[in-house]
Amino acid sequence: MSKNILILAGDGIGPEIVNEAVKVLARLRDGFGLDIAMDEALVGGEAIDATGVPLPEATLNLAREADAVLLGAVGGPKWEPLPIERRPEKGLLGLRSGLGLFANLRPALLYPQLADASTLRPEVVAGLDILIVRELTGGIYFGQPRGVHRREDGERVGVNTLIYSESEIRRICRVAFEVARQRGRRVCSVDKANVLECTELWRAVAIEVGSEFPDVELSHMYVDNAAMQLVRRPKQFDVIVTDNMFGDILSDAAAMLTGSIGMLPSASLDAHGKGMYEPIHGSAPDIAGKGVANPLATILSVAMMLRYSLGAPETAERVERAVSAVLDAGLRTADILSPGMRQVGTAEMGDAVVAALG
Ligand code: NAD
Repeated sequence: MSKNILILAGDGIGPEIVNEAVKVLARLRDGFGLDIAMDEALVGGEAIDATGVPLPEATLNLAREADAVLLGAVGGPKWEPLPIERRPEKGLLGLRSGLGLFANLRPALLYPQLADASTLRPEVVAGLDILIVRELTGGIYFGQPRGVHRREDGERVGVNTLIYSESEIRRICRVAFEVARQRGRRVCSVDKANVLECTELWRAVAIEVGSEFPDVELSHMYVDNAAMQLVRRPKQFDVIVTDNMFGDILSDAAAMLTGSIGMLPSASLDAHGKGMYEPIHGSAPDIAGKGVANPLATILSVAMMLRYSLGAPETAERVERAVSAVLDAGLRTADILSPGMRQVGTAEMGDAVVAALG
């Protein structure tokens, strides 16, 4: 049965990079029998300009009906003066909560061809392939009570609440174990169980879920140690599963191990395999419209979509092999350029990946 993909290009470089990913999808549809239909809608700043809100009802409805959503990026200086609740980024949060996307998958994969791009020594990072599974809709970012108030003695007090139910922990751990089965079969659960009771529960539930997956090895690490180990010996990790805030911080640190923000895709999944797929970078207003942005993170987001929402792992590998072949051929956008390589623009990079699909 045909799968519906909703395309949300967004702002800044969003339309440029999404255009290249759509070329890849179209080629897979026309040349390799991928049974998909694509639709488009507005989100972020472009939606504010057209409708006054960052997430129009029509977009959310189309996203609900779709099997998967491909997003470019949102935001830019034009909309920064707006109050926070009307900014483009609210469109993203609305999509995440409106679609129940509780599992954020962020791979940190360093193509051997780009080992020099990392700030760490090549031997520490070459061949790095970590997947961070971050809980996305709970924890301290959403817990109540929250806010800043004035105490009786007149002093201001800020409060946020770290709260997780066991069902929230169980479902994110299950995602981590299931994806580990498709990779190296190792899960490291990151917590702060020595200090925070909430993450003591996290650890206990992770162990319970782990017993359902005897073929996957489970280990535990305190978050401070995990941060240290990520820069010391990052290749020891396969899948890391952790809460919303720890995952936010660790996934950015892991991304920087690879040295190029333009290469990293992400997926946010619901309980039924539907997902929103997007590069981890933003709308890069400094290079928007110049045709120089790296489209590979968005193209690799398509590969994740094929694997996790469209049930087409072989086609996902085809896309990943094509990206690798293009890097082998020495093509580089400006952000990953190194001596001796050939600099190309956004469209030329996209066309090269399409050609390398076979
Ligand atoms: P950014 O990721 O947009 O850019 C950071 C730096 O990386 C810039 O120098 C940019 O040119 C470069 N860069 C990013 N993507 C690139 C690519 N594909 N190819 C080559 N270079 C690339 O982060 P920022 O500058 O902090 O944010 C810009 C805007 O994007 C802000 O409005 C921010 O709120 C928004 N933002 C959106 C998302 C999202 O849509 N998911 C994520 C982060 C930031």
